[in-house]
Formats: sequence, structure tokens, C-alpha cells
Amino acid sequence: MRDHFTSQWRRAFGQLVFPQGCCLCERTLADPLSSPVCPECKDQLRPLAAPACPRCGLFLAPSAVPGLCGECRVRRRPFRMAVAAAPYEGVFQRALLELKFRRREVLAELLAGPAISAFRRAPRDDGAGTAGAFPAAVVAVPVPFWRGRRRGFNQAELLARPVAREFGIPLVRGLLRRRSRPPQTLVSPSARRRNVSGAFRTGRLSERLVGRPLLLVDDVFTTGSTVEAAVRALIRSGAGPVDVLTVARAPR
Ligand SMILES: [Zn+2]
Ligand SMILES: [Zn+2]
Repeated sequence: MRDHFTSQWRRAFGQLVFPQGCCLCERTLADPLSSPVCPECKDQLRPLAAPACPRCGLFLAPSAVPGLCGECRVRRRPFRMAVAAAPYEGVFQRALLELKFRRREVLAELLAGPAISAFRRAPRDDGAGTAGAFPAAVVAVPVPFWRGRRRGFNQAELLARPVAREFGIPLVRGLLRRRSRPPQTLVSPSARRRNVSGAFRTGRLSERLVGRPLLLVDDVFTTGSTVEAAVRALIRSGAGPVDVLTVARAPR
């Protein structure tokens, strides 16, 4: 009975003080204190069950022949495999933008969940060379310097924390760093790739991680040029194979 009163009071208080709707749609929240996201939106934050390229995680058409995507068939990827929970659209896109630009940190946990499930169920031995040991540690892609470390906000690291916790492996901070360089203004993918190829440098990899697989976490896999540059930097530092986990994957 008392619990009932408490939750009623909490609800009323929440609606009075935080009368806003769901931060991802227009619906009014019944209990703004417990979550900024309505149950309908929350329900949509689930990994997409669709065929994907086993190497780069690109979602394929439902009718596609299972296997590597066109790009992975012709181009070697520096990572062992990349996995994403869902395409970068709809509620996932809105939630990622809210997290990144409006710093809704509470969304990081909601978004990490589907990514963790997607990584757990990704085939690790599928003939695409992705077989091997589970990652020994998690590394987050650092934010570009012009978005400022002084802002002290890195959405990738907020996502990486629950990933590391769920998998029971450490989150290694400070290993991967951005080099100071101007913002990406080049648009062609090959130019972009060249531009970011030296965008990362690494600190000293701890002895126990030399040669061990790592898991690199970012919010969105767009062209792949950023994560590929980060993966190369990690491998240069002495890491073993690197897997990539992002919440969303941009369509090609
Ligand atoms: Zn909603
Ligand atoms: Zn692919």
C-alpha cells in the first residue's frame, strides 16, 4: 500500500515538475522520473533481426544471399568484425542525436542494451574469418578535439561503459587519442579515409593486452573511415584483432 502511494506521489510529482513528453516522440510521459522515453519508443530500441554482412555489419535486404557485402568482398577491413544493433534511422537515430547533442546521458544505457544483444548473438565462426577469442577489453572512440575535451562529454564512452560492464571486461581509457587536426570537410569517402587515416594515436598498451583482441565502441558506423583508422591505431599499438560495436549502422 505504501509503495503504491509512493509511486503515485512520484508520478504526480514527476508530471508536475517535468511536464515534458517522451524525448524521442510527442507522447506524454506517464512517469517522467523513471524514464525520459515512453514505453512505445523503448520497445522499438531492439536489435534488428535482419541479415547483415558478417564482416562489417551492413544490414542487407531481407532477400539478400547471406554472406559478405559487396564492399567487404573487394576490400580488406582492418577489423575482425563490426556489429551494429540497427540501421541509423527512426527511433535509434533520434535517440543517438539526443544523446550526442543534448547530452541525455540516460539514453546511453538504453542504447547500449540492443548493441550488447547484437554483439552476443553475432556469429563468431561463420567462415568469414571472424572466429576467435572474445575481446579482452573495451575501448571507446574518442570525440574529435574540436568538439572539445573541455566539454567532457563522449557519447562513445558512455555507451562503452555498460558494454564493458555487461561483458565483464575492463574499459581502457586514454589508450586511443585523437590527433589535433581540423574538422572533416571532405566529402568523398576515399578522401575522407585518407584524411582520417592518421587521425588517431595511441598511448602505451598495457602488457596484458598485447596481442589480445579488443572491442572498439562507437555510436554510429557511418562510412567506416573513423572506426577503421581507430582500429589501425590500436593494432599498431600491439593489440590483437579488433571487433567494432556500434549502436547504429548507416545504410550504404
Ligand atoms: Zn516516445
Ligand atoms: Zn561488409
